[in-house]
Amino acid sequence: HLHLVFPFLSIPLVSHLCSPSLSFTLSFILFFSSSTLKQEIDLGLKPSYLSPTQAPLPHTHTHTHTPFSQFTYEIAPVFVLMEQLTLKKMREIIGWPSGEGDGIFSPGGAISNMYSVMIARYKYFPEVKTKGMSAAPRLVLFTSEHSHYSIKKAGAALGFGSENVVLLSTDERGRVIPADLEAKILDVKQKGYHPLFVNATAGSTVYGAFDPINEIADICEKYNMWLHVDGAWGGGLLMSRKHRHKFSGVERANSVTWNPHKMMGVPLQCSAILVREKGILAGCNSMCAGYLFQPDKQYDVSYDTGDKAIQCGRHVDIFKFWLMWKAKGTIGFEQHIDKCLDLSQYLYDKIRNREGYEMVFDGPQHTNVCFWYIPPSLRGMEHNSKEYREKLHKVAPNIKAMMMESGTTMVGYQPQGQKVNFFRMVISNPAALQSDIDFLIDEIERLGRDL
Ligand SMILES: *Cc1c(COP(=O)(O)O)cnc(C)c1O
Repeated sequence: HLHLVFPFLSIPLVSHLCSPSLSFTLSFILFFSSSTLKQEIDLGLKPSYLSPTQAPLPHTHTHTHTPFSQFTYEIAPVFVLMEQLTLKKMREIIGWPSGEGDGIFSPGGAISNMYSVMIARYKYFPEVKTKGMSAAPRLVLFTSEHSHYSIKKAGAALGFGSENVVLLSTDERGRVIPADLEAKILDVKQKGYHPLFVNATAGSTVYGAFDPINEIADICEKYNMWLHVDGAWGGGLLMSRKHRHKFSGVERANSVTWNPHKMMGVPLQCSAILVREKGILAGCNSMCAGYLFQPDKQYDVSYDTGDKAIQCGRHVDIFKFWLMWKAKGTIGFEQHIDKCLDLSQYLYDKIRNREGYEMVFDGPQHTNVCFWYIPPSLRGMEHNSKEYREKLHKVAPNIKAMMMESGTTMVGYQPQGQKVNFFRMVISNPAALQSDIDFLIDEIERLGRDL
């Protein structure tokens, strides 16, 4: 019935802003901001309203950063419902039946990934919660050599040890090789350790690579392991009918990280950990603190979602995401994603065969386009010579420094494994145009010509 009380919460497929004139967009957002905040203010501003530990509304903001905390329903009823509804919608998009399952918004993809490791351990070794790691055999996590460092960090922070995070080999486009996963699982088993968890990255940070989820899921089923999909960077592609096939098999995952604050352009921070099994987040993390989470409240305490988190006070990250979804509609997000991917394809097509460019890998899967710019002075040189590699290694940092000094544009670079520094171009801003890409290429050539 709560959703009937707050009927404006539902998320539209198509935004009502068909012709998004700016002032109309702003007044629309203001309307929803104020009606949402009003619900909270009505509850929070009453002098007689005393929250357990902190004033729910120390000062009023009307922009998207709200000062509320979100541990119990009574403190933040509208935001709790908004979060429930949005998480359900995200689980539906993943493909879990009727959007059932669990989840919570966390302070970022690194923390969401850490949640996935915690829940996996709780699923197979629940006694670790009370007795500690000595209650379990030596547990091993598997993740790609191209995966985000947060998986290794979670291994270290949660007491597995970073040596028990096994890195998997990838193909030339940065995707995990399933046969390597199986070989490494067998190796770990032979040593008498317990293979617990596999992370498949959907949109790796540097290459934008999508690991083959279905083949990895087959292996996880065979060895009874937890499958996590890190879609922190790639998650936005789930909104696109054209690109979501890259997530094929994601519904077989036990948990998924999805960061609306990356590809979808929601202001930091906004990251969700989504879990297929209902109730397991609470099982893993709840401590049932008597001052917040009394079981005998007059309402359904399953709405007191805060005890699922490893935090106590929790920032309201859902509001700006919900507001954006409300304003753009599901279709609006799809257009945003498709546009960014089209633009990176434009960049790729433009430089693939252009003189002075070499691609780090062919066929980008996300908006990541990685390439070397070879200045004229290096073009005839033997590629494997030490001199060539040393010189090329300095090109991208030099060009970037000149870009920053002239204040015209900026693009990231990095080395990877044996590969010397290359440019890593990613596009997540839907306001970018082809002319911005043209300008970037012109700048690289202008600044790099005499290197
Ligand atoms: C950025 C990223 C993360 C970490 O996300 P934060 O929100 O910065 O903590 C995790 N995984 C991948 C693949 C990423 O690209």
